[in-house]
Amino acid sequence: MSESRYVRKGFGNTAEIRPLLEGDYRSRVVEWLVDHDRRLEADGVTIRLAREFGFCYGVDRAVEYAYETRKRFPDRRIFITGEIIHNPRVNRRLEEMRIHRLPEGAGPEERLRGLTPEDVVLIPAFGIERDALDRLKNLGATLVDTTCGSVLNVWKSVGRYARDGYTAVVHGKHAHEETRATCSQVRERGGAYLVVRDLEQAERVGAMIEGRLDAEEFLREFAPVSSPGFDPDRDLRAVGLANQTTMLSSESLEIADRLRRSMIRRYGEERLAEHFRSFDTICSATQDRQDAVHEMLEERLDLLVVIGGYNSSNTGHLLEIGSRSTRSYHIAGANDLLSRRWLRHKPIGDPDPVVTADWLAEGPAVIGVTAGASTPNSEVGRTILRLLELRGVPEATLAERFGATERI
Ligand code: SF4
Repeated sequence: MSESRYVRKGFGNTAEIRPLLEGDYRSRVVEWLVDHDRRLEADGVTIRLAREFGFCYGVDRAVEYAYETRKRFPDRRIFITGEIIHNPRVNRRLEEMRIHRLPEGAGPEERLRGLTPEDVVLIPAFGIERDALDRLKNLGATLVDTTCGSVLNVWKSVGRYARDGYTAVVHGKHAHEETRATCSQVRERGGAYLVVRDLEQAERVGAMIEGRLDAEEFLREFAPVSSPGFDPDRDLRAVGLANQTTMLSSESLEIADRLRRSMIRRYGEERLAEHFRSFDTICSATQDRQDAVHEMLEERLDLLVVIGGYNSSNTGHLLEIGSRSTRSYHIAGANDLLSRRWLRHKPIGDPDPVVTADWLAEGPAVIGVTAGASTPNSEVGRTILRLLELRGVPEATLAERFGATERI
């Protein structure tokens, strides 16, 4: 394949697409807050914006490359292998730009049927599975690979584990695109993997390592989330920890610690290095957003609004952190603030959103706002305006603060 058919660094036409990106995703409200200590007080309500929130470097780059690609190939068919990021507004915008998703749920053959070498295919920030990438390369279509550098680092770690005979234990969600892609990297190198969702599952892996669980029982739970032919007696002798980059970092650390202790019990401290390795592969953007919620919670907060796609893993984790200390809601955007009385939001662990009454208290209130790594500033700004509007802040006050206000 010639160099120009596999693009990893964009097309160098950033200046041309910059006004488009700013028109779609910039927010005067957010910029005002950033310039004013991330705090706004109006008519008894205080809005506090997290120190780090919204688009991370990987998402920023992926979205930018999608716009660059459309500019570079105005007349070509452009596809993307899955959601570029987990944000409905951004995905709708790409559809409007005629960047279409390849069919989901279909087998690999079916997904790629109809693609020609004239087509352009974008690979999202989470990456894709190795065999899908190979098929796309063989097809000869132009590939624009936006896989984030932090995801590539995880792949390097699990690649080393496979090379050295350690089973990759991945703290992640088995069905998530990034975790599927990470597991495919292990498969490609002939290694074994096991995906662990949470601390509870890690407890059972630990029990298996320590010989307190029967292999059959173990496989009933873990066979669907481990490499083909996984043999717990053989494949849990040496493990290397990694994680989906967007998991709750404190939980990843606990899981690593849990399995490290099991290895010590089984093999002794002096032989730990032969049986256990760990690299924290949570990306810095995820970590910064989680830390910023912890910081916000050091001061009084009556309510925390977390904005992000309902299927966004990192947004869900920001909600988990907030919920430990204050009333917290995960919304997809301003449209979920249905009225002063009703709110649509997605509770922790629920597959679908629900509608809750009496979510917005009367009287003085401090409301925290943050957003997952795939939420554009425009959505954050619209949400803040809607919050203020529902709390009865007059439009004239908003117009005075922000100039002509954004469309809610
Ligand atoms: S969350 Fe982290 S790994 Fe994922 S795209 Fe953003 S920067 Fe990259």
